[in-house]
Amino acid sequence: MASSTTSSKRPTYYEDLRSRGYSRRDFMKFTTMIAAYLGLESTGVAQVTEALMTKPRLPVIWLHFQECTCCSESFIRSSHPIVADIILDKISLDYTETLMAASGHQAEASMRKTMEEYPGEYVLCVEGSVPMGADGAYCCIGGKSAIDILQEAAAGAKAIIAWGSCACNGCVQASKPNPTGATPIHKLVKGKPIIKVPGCPPIGEVMAGVLVHVVTFGRIPELDRVGRPKAFYSKRVHDTCYRRPFYDAGLFVESFDDENARKGYCLYKVGCKGPTTYNACGVTKWNNGTSYPIQSGHGCIGCSEENFWDNGPFYRRLSSFPGFGIESTADEIGAFAAGATAAGIAAHAIGTNIMKKKIIQSHVEEGRTSAEELNHD
Ligand code: SF4
Ligand code: SF4
Repeated sequence: MASSTTSSKRPTYYEDLRSRGYSRRDFMKFTTMIAAYLGLESTGVAQVTEALMTKPRLPVIWLHFQECTCCSESFIRSSHPIVADIILDKISLDYTETLMAASGHQAEASMRKTMEEYPGEYVLCVEGSVPMGADGAYCCIGGKSAIDILQEAAAGAKAIIAWGSCACNGCVQASKPNPTGATPIHKLVKGKPIIKVPGCPPIGEVMAGVLVHVVTFGRIPELDRVGRPKAFYSKRVHDTCYRRPFYDAGLFVESFDDENARKGYCLYKVGCKGPTTYNACGVTKWNNGTSYPIQSGHGCIGCSEENFWDNGPFYRRLSSFPGFGIESTADEIGAFAAGATAAGIAAHAIGTNIMKKKIIQSHVEEGRTSAEELNHD
């Protein structure tokens, strides 16, 4: 990251943290947690620690367009207080319409000042989609349309972070018939690195992790083919789901009030989109790692995937999900087994599933029904 005379006057994250009464131990716990979320080894913890101790804070402009502010809410409610106290307070020193103390012309002056003082240094965070219909009239702030504000702020940004499914994919505003012409950020800004952090909202710790990565390494994290950080979006919700043994065994909830729902079986048949959704919910969870939708008995609705509002009813099961062979129809294991003269690999998968089903059913009969117990078998 380029340094400047102005940036050298900025306090480091560590200096600011100590001035707020946090101990070095608190700081170390925070850097260890964030490094773990980023999937870094122990050397990575040292790198994060060193960066936050020595580097001046990152100038950040955080814009809000067509959205409900749930991304900001998720970030503020992040389980670790340092996320809000250090990362967010530092951000609010620059510009964020929702949380900064200034308003009106003062707020606009603050954004302009940041753009002028830190050209090529600041990170532009965008929450919300941009309405392109009616010449941008659906979303105007300070007399300017969202598209004009975006393009002006993007011009001097070091990188852009698109927070949440609105900024990444348009979300509900862009669902058919998309009356305002809601458009995601990557379709409007060219020639800048863009990090997509989808979810409705994204997980607060994931948001903090992305920012800390940029601070630590001075560059954007490794992204997947659609522009999401691999550290958080490389696995399907299905891959980390604690109900997965039930799925593999063909044990499903048939309706939300049935006995299988009480037993905590797999939610695939009542519409769970976990098999086609990439997110960290099963690992990081929500509310200080307390739970996530599937743990509360509701299937994943695929909120981090493109067009999730238009991808079919939330409570209808996926008919198939390409690329995962036998798993795509695991609820019909019995039917497959009857005609299992297909390829050896499919037969093996079926056999494994049938065996698992028998083992799990015997455990269920013994009263061993928790996912923890089943995951050990
Ligand atoms: S279909 Fe849903 S509930 Fe079932 S294992 Fe996959 S993610 Fe979990
Ligand atoms: S479980 Fe699915 S719908 Fe729920 S927050 Fe995670 S990705 Fe979004």
